[in-house]
Amino acid sequence: MSVTPPDAPKDCPRCRRLVAYREENARAHPDWFNGAAPSFGDPNARLLVVGLAPGRMGANRTGRPFTGDYAGELLYGTLKKFGFATGEYRADPNDGFTLVGAMITNAVRCAPPENKPTPEEIKTCRPFLNARIAALPKLKVIVALGSIAHESVLRTHGMKPTDSKFAHGAETALLNGPTLVSSYHCSRYNTQTRRLTTEMFETLFARAKELAI
Ligand code: URA
Repeated sequence: MSVTPPDAPKDCPRCRRLVAYREENARAHPDWFNGAAPSFGDPNARLLVVGLAPGRMGANRTGRPFTGDYAGELLYGTLKKFGFATGEYRADPNDGFTLVGAMITNAVRCAPPENKPTPEEIKTCRPFLNARIAALPKLKVIVALGSIAHESVLRTHGMKPTDSKFAHGAETALLNGPTLVSSYHCSRYNTQTRRLTTEMFETLFARAKELAI
């Protein structure tokens, strides 16, 4: 029986459209990472943050989730503020920034065109999310960024979207698992339209921290 690892291989072949997009990016920018971005953080994490998918100019370029894209500024700043990181985030995987008791991963590991993975791609990538969660023995809380991450995390625990509706700040007791805390995604669009403010995001991480202890 083959066991799915918690991270997809860099050249994961599972999604034809995402492979084509990766190859297109690699032709245009051979110096970029251009692969399935691995999770980043502490193997003893009590908190797992699940994003949507690597940004083309973010993790697809740098190889580290949320590194180099706008969304990373708020996410990494907030993790540091709540004691889940040390060092200075400089949007570079060699910046020495280290997560402490936390890990970041994505529901889909390869950058999708226009930041929009298809339902099939989300499903195809889910075994990696299952394996990621299963490999964290101290996990207490999962923060899902956006409705797609929320739904994918529910499904890792055999639950359906109708079992727990996505809302900012919603908490779900996952079946035989950690607590899921759902958040609006910290994307440029959501923060610039103030659908998600820094205060809202920090309030949510304060709660996640309580649950993680
Ligand atoms: N970068 C990521 O790695 N994931 C997201 O969801 C957004 C940006």
